Amino acid sequence: MKAKIIDGKLIANQIKTELIQEIEKLEIRGFTPGLATVLVGEDPASNAYVRMKEKMCDEIGIQNFGYRLSGNTTENELLKLVDDLKNDHKVHGILVQLPLPKQINEQNVINAIPVFKDVDGFHPTNWGKMMIGEESFLPCTPAGIQELLIRSGYSPENKNVVIVGRSKIVGLPLANILIQKAPGANATVTVCHSKTQNLAEHTKRADILIAAIGIPEFITADMIAENSIVIDVGVNRVEAPEKKRGYRLVGDVNFEAVAKKAKAISPVPGGVGPMTIIMLMRNTVKAMKMANKL
Ligand code: NDP
Repeated sequence: MKAKIIDGKLIANQIKTELIQEIEKLEIRGFTPGLATVLVGEDPASNAYVRMKEKMCDEIGIQNFGYRLSGNTTENELLKLVDDLKNDHKVHGILVQLPLPKQINEQNVINAIPVFKDVDGFHPTNWGKMMIGEESFLPCTPAGIQELLIRSGYSPENKNVVIVGRSKIVGLPLANILIQKAPGANATVTVCHSKTQNLAEHTKRADILIAAIGIPEFITADMIAENSIVIDVGVNRVEAPEKKRGYRLVGDVNFEAVAKKAKAISPVPGGVGPMTIIMLMRNTVKAMKMANKL
């Protein structure tokens, strides 16, 4: 293998240490950040994500308020909970794990989260602020990808970045973040999607290729440029009867083949995933500081 591994776990751990130190100092002054985590229904992947977030809260000193609602919860019931959390001074950030069951309109719930507690960065006001480069809560996965690139020495500045995927949680906000006239951004960004013609022509022009597609091992070695940087956002469960849990996790990039050609690559798991979680923690600390004008 030629490519250097971009170790998201290691970098997330560095940020974790920084946050622990910051939270300890805040504690001495009498401030404790609080995050409410709301899970509706029993989706196993969502359940696993929420548990990881709650565990991280415990590890770094963020007070966690976990809410588990049944899959039959109505939109009004969820909106009522969000409203209660809005007025709870111990709760600085509200995370409602997506996707929500069909009977609930996700956008209505996102809109109900107060902008200053929107640590997932999905509220339209935070989107608007992100677009015009104003201080805001950035969505965790895109913010984590930017941080991962910067801290691993592959800043997107002046680079041709090609993103495959235009979802509201990854591709679209990431493109916005990386084209900002700002340090750690200033990239020339191309966004590809399922309607893109001749996809490989675009991906082969990337200095930095970011795959957020949701199709296992979709990006193959012939689609990338020699010595490019590859960030694999995908988390796909692939059947693996030999594993105790019956599946294994693979990314959107054919890791083995691409790692022989790329200069650096982020693995799955252990790449973008840990960065997403630590960015949520960082946003929660930021929300607490904003709430207390610190
Ligand atoms: P979505 O399904 O919302 O979006 C997928 C995107 O890929 C769409 O824009 C779609 O295009 C595009 N796409 C689909 N097929 C093709 C194709 N054949 N060629 C080019 N583009 C294509 O997925 P998400 O953005 O939510 O997630 C993507 C992956 O990232 C998933 O594996 C998910 O699990 C993972 N993920 C990981 C996170 C982490 O923390 N590590 C966080 C969030 C997601 P179109 O818009 O035209 O449909």
